[in-house]
Amino acid sequence: MKVKVAINGYGTIGKRVADAISLQPDMEVAGVTKTKPDFDAKMAVKKGYKLYAAIPERVKVFEEAGIEVHGTVEELLENVDLVVDCSPNKVGAQNKPLYEKLGIKAIFQGGEKKDVADVSFNAIANFEKAVGKRFVRVVSCNTTGLTRLIYTIKKSFSIGKVRATMIRRVVDPKEDKKGLVNGIEPNPIKLPSHHGPDVQSVLPDVNIVTTAFKVPTTLMHVHSVAIELQDSVSEDAVREVLAAEPRIMLINSGDGFTSTAKVIEFARELRMRYDLYENAVWADSIGIVDGELYVTQAINQESIVVPENIDAIRAMLELKNKEESIKETNRTLKIGV
Ligand code: NAD
Repeated sequence: MKVKVAINGYGTIGKRVADAISLQPDMEVAGVTKTKPDFDAKMAVKKGYKLYAAIPERVKVFEEAGIEVHGTVEELLENVDLVVDCSPNKVGAQNKPLYEKLGIKAIFQGGEKKDVADVSFNAIANFEKAVGKRFVRVVSCNTTGLTRLIYTIKKSFSIGKVRATMIRRVVDPKEDKKGLVNGIEPNPIKLPSHHGPDVQSVLPDVNIVTTAFKVPTTLMHVHSVAIELQDSVSEDAVREVLAAEPRIMLINSGDGFTSTAKVIEFARELRMRYDLYENAVWADSIGIVDGELYVTQAINQESIVVPENIDAIRAMLELKNKEESIKETNRTLKIGV
């Protein structure tokens, strides 16, 4: 029997998580919610997802637009094992009382504060912490990218301080109401950016300081990371450790990966919607100078958290252990292929 999962908020993350759930043998999408009857709502119905109104009073608006709607979010949630809340930043916390009232488990996304959930989650770093839990937060795209990289290095080598600079895509491609046309925005201007403390919500023993800048691009974030190494380590040993982790993809400038534009061009051939679930780490950026490891990676913000949501569902509902879950998610999403 497949477990039933609801998606509350069928937007950038919600639609990707819904499609990823549909590929899993042990779970199914019970329904998705939308606030308005736009093209995304019509597409959800076309794909066969049962649509519900995220705002109960709006059922009529969908009916008037001629879109089949199965009821309100509350009606959807009455018949599910778990809800993945993919509503906009801070709205997840407003939805939490409904999940508490109905007694269902919920996953929140990185736009929520860490105290919304019992655990801040990253599959490879702390799967076990989410086992059986009621509320889990899958950390943001930048934090997922940083956590995967740091955890993978830390698992094999003893590390000291981490410093990282995030060069952030300003908005997602669909966001036509906001943006930054011609400028580089230190965001935040004051130290530190929230990414460092957010990494510590998953890896509490990592000493990390981060800074961040927004730049006028929509494709990917880029991270420039420096990690102190306690022991003498070779650059090849670092490459080997990163190459062994399926959720990290090593790329080379020699193959034509000269910028995020080329990484996305590659992903366009590889996956639907150019979803790149893996950290794209430039193998030739890996350098060790005076005991410090330098590395540059690119992160596709719209898709990197998708496998993490699938593994969080399995951990919370105790469907599989860490290794089995990650393996199944990687297989179904063709990660590491
Ligand atoms: P989005 O705006 O693309 O989608 C949000 C969806 O929720 C929309 O369909 C909206 O109509 C719907 N919604 C609005 N109010 C709602 C409500 N009260 N209840 C339920 N649904 C409601 O946003 P997104 O980019 O998918 O972000 C969702 C979450 O994922 C945020 O916490 C965000 O920080 C996090 N996240 C986003 C990205 C990214 O780059 N887009 C990456 C990682 C994490």
